[in-house]
Amino acid sequence: ISDAEASVVAEHVSTADGREIEVAANVGTLAELDAAAEQGADGIGLFRTEFLFLDRDAPPDEQEQYEAYTAALTAFPGERVVVRTLDVGGDKPIPYLDAHAEENPFLGVRGIRRSLASDSNLFDTQLRALLRAAGDDEDADGSLAVMFPLVATVEELDAALSRVESVAEELAAEGIDYAIPELGVMIETPGSVFAAEALAKRVSFLSIGTNDLTQYVMAASRENDRTADLHDPLYPAVLRAIRRTVTAGHDGDAWVGMCGEMAGDPDLTELLVGLGLDELSMSAITVPDVKANVREVDADDAREHAERILDAETRAEVRRLLSAESSA
Ligand code: PEP
Ligand code: MG
Repeated sequence: ISDAEASVVAEHVSTADGREIEVAANVGTLAELDAAAEQGADGIGLFRTEFLFLDRDAPPDEQEQYEAYTAALTAFPGERVVVRTLDVGGDKPIPYLDAHAEENPFLGVRGIRRSLASDSNLFDTQLRALLRAAGDDEDADGSLAVMFPLVATVEELDAALSRVESVAEELAAEGIDYAIPELGVMIETPGSVFAAEALAKRVSFLSIGTNDLTQYVMAASRENDRTADLHDPLYPAVLRAIRRTVTAGHDGDAWVGMCGEMAGDPDLTELLVGLGLDELSMSAITVPDVKANVREVDADDAREHAERILDAETRAEVRRLLSAESSA
């Protein structure tokens, strides 16, 4: 990234009545950092680390990962960069890591389950790189946050947090600079929605991954054309899962974001503000439209409108209410 681009400071946006909503970008390669900055993203809400592991025969070492995380922080001076730990498995196979063929990989060892598997130090290497990047606290850099994918239980989060602790102790013993980043959990499974109170108590943020959450709430694959109609976050069940997560998160003093595709749909900005989300993270290309829509929203009206939508019994009713005026 050039100096000129790196010095662009995105203008954060608020609703018409003054509620700030962070509008961040999802990135899946280092090259996408430039596009995110150019589109005025407030930071990175989802840095998918899988790309570091793809198209090669062995995982990247700690130094290579450290440099990638540092590059993301440098691209967003003063802003938050949320890095997701490796989300391998399911739709993201990495051949040299997937030793065990599974009959049903979407319900198998993916996301945090793979990181916590006892046969690997992959997770520790990634955490070491992340804690080192978080420790570089030059003022010009953004602040690092780290989140764990596909959590289904409080036990998994506790295990991940204790790995963070032990990696920190290890770095301290080695005399290496580090810091513990802001920590969060992705809400992508019904299990995590119903455990959201306990999860939120343990971390500072929750980020809703609606691509997977919709798939698991609706039992409809995100990849199958024949179930595409069911894979829709506008079904009342998914909307209520989102609402439940936001309420539980806020009750536990966690901020709540969304980084699934739903967050980048400009037609849904008012609904998402009304559901209480604090941050929306999306493909860079939709950042300007969503920012423009945030500025138009009245957060109180949006909340009332969202409450009416949450009472809907069918998707058809949700759609009808969505196309009605928020003050109707
Ligand atoms: C999601 O599941 O909504 C998400 C953001 O993660 P991914 O699409 O990478 O699984
Ligand atoms: Mg996901």
